[in-house]
Amino acid sequence: MNCKNTLKKSPKLVVIGAGIAGVGAAGKLLTHGFTDIQIVEASSQPGGRIRSSLFGKSTVDEGAQYIHGASGKNPIFQLAKEHGLLQDTHDRVDPELSVLTNMQKQMDPDVTKEVKNLASSILKHAHLIAQQKQYTQANSLADVYLEEVKTLIAQWDGDHTDLRRQKLGLLSMLMKWQCDHLAAGSLSEVSVHVYEEYKHIEGHDRNSQGLFPNLLQKLLEIIPREKLLLNKPVQQILWNGSFESEDNSLYPIKVLCEDGGHILADHVILSISLGCLKANGQSLFQPRLPEQKLNAIQSMGFGTMNKIYLEFEAPFWDENTEVIGLVWEEETPLSCQEPNLTEWWKRVPVFYVVGPTGRYGHLLVGTISGKEAEFIESLSLQEVASSLTCLFRQFTGRSSLPELKNVFVTKWFSNPYTRGSYSHISINSTGDMIDLLTEPLPQATEGNGSPMLQLLFAGEATHRSHHSTTHGALLSGWREAERLIDLYSTK
Ligand SMILES: Cc1cc2nc3c(=O)[nH]c(=O)nc-3n(C[C@H](O)[C@H](O)[C@H](O)COP(=O)(O)OP(=O)(O)OC[C@H]3O[C@@H](n4cnc5c(N)ncnc54)[C@H](O)[C@@H]3O)c2cc1C
Repeated sequence: MNCKNTLKKSPKLVVIGAGIAGVGAAGKLLTHGFTDIQIVEASSQPGGRIRSSLFGKSTVDEGAQYIHGASGKNPIFQLAKEHGLLQDTHDRVDPELSVLTNMQKQMDPDVTKEVKNLASSILKHAHLIAQQKQYTQANSLADVYLEEVKTLIAQWDGDHTDLRRQKLGLLSMLMKWQCDHLAAGSLSEVSVHVYEEYKHIEGHDRNSQGLFPNLLQKLLEIIPREKLLLNKPVQQILWNGSFESEDNSLYPIKVLCEDGGHILADHVILSISLGCLKANGQSLFQPRLPEQKLNAIQSMGFGTMNKIYLEFEAPFWDENTEVIGLVWEEETPLSCQEPNLTEWWKRVPVFYVVGPTGRYGHLLVGTISGKEAEFIESLSLQEVASSLTCLFRQFTGRSSLPELKNVFVTKWFSNPYTRGSYSHISINSTGDMIDLLTEPLPQATEGNGSPMLQLLFAGEATHRSHHSTTHGALLSGWREAERLIDLYSTK
């Protein structure tokens, strides 16, 4: 055992949620000598937003798939390397974007690259542009993007009309793609400071299709099976109390489960998603959370990004294609701000080719965010398949393109234990709010002698600089475990 210090006493701990944050926290505590730990998980399996499903010839990732920043500075990359899980992974280095338009045209790759670079630069530097223009904290990414796009449009005055239409359509496609990265309904919901807070880890994005569930299994290996309670949704957390156990010991926390059972604890590490906190935050805690924390929960951004996996009998794309972009020539970034549920497929900006073919067959995966992403969860797979077959027939001009063989749509929004995909900094929030959400309770000032660190908050949304990622989630779990390790350390 890698036990750093000896413990003053062995407290009773409950970790709520067996996603990577909860599993990471429990693992660290166990290796530091804490023995009385119970992980309570609502679903029938651990992993949370790390989940794979059988589709076509193989399993595909419903949630996390990329290691963002494949370098030794990323704990996920480091752990995957230590466990020998990197063999089938590969860096995604500026993938070739092959763009088709609804007028059956293929966009010139040089034009695509130029416009993509311009859009990326605007988004990456949005906070600096906002600073120059003296925008306020409440300004959105859309405010900057749309303003800069106007300047670009003016510069393209001399272009042929068709080319201008394509470029504008591409800017609009890139905007939707950005929303997918942020799990946002629109860039107007996202703070202009989003990329000031979020810090990239050095290294490329590593496509790790299939790796995350294996990594989670490795992390679970050090957790005795009986410490993980599955199918046990937590209903309420009574804290700052005095609850007597059968052996007459007193505990400040009582965790009530939906099955009528309860668990007493000295400390609870809560790692449920921000979506669940938004939905249940008012009723989940007794006494209520402080108003400031409830306000942070409601103000922070959390949205839906779903994946649509498609299996084809034969590919319509070239062998070297990595990403297929779909541009609607009549669209401009200004014209596609409102949700369009009746034509939800217009919200899918790109389809990635899932390879290698030998393992996956002829597979594409599309991404979709916003209200349209929520909406498609209510459609039958047949409806999705037939709409997307029409879409590909329109874009390729091949009316004989066969029906899709198989379709699979993730449902992160209607999943009661995620209620969306991941967090972002919304126009109503700041990085400081993430710190506020993360602050353990009771706060030192209101403790009045009551036991410290009763409620600890982990999960991706609580990591200020790496929120929305698996590494952010894991680091957040480790961070909360460290708080308890420090509290009970004899040194
Ligand atoms: C579509 C999608 C794509 C993604 N792509 C990437 C990617 O490529 N790279 C990357 O790094 N990250 C990606 N992410 C984000 C990443 O998956 C998450 O940030 C991370 O897995 C979150 O882990 P977590 O432990 O914080 O939360 P979760 O995984 O959500 O774990 C929380 C757990 O709490 C449980 N729970 C909820 N309510 C209760 C309750 N009342 N009682 C008991 N248990 C409860 C849940 O069932 C869940 O198991 C993606 C996410 C999605 C949805």
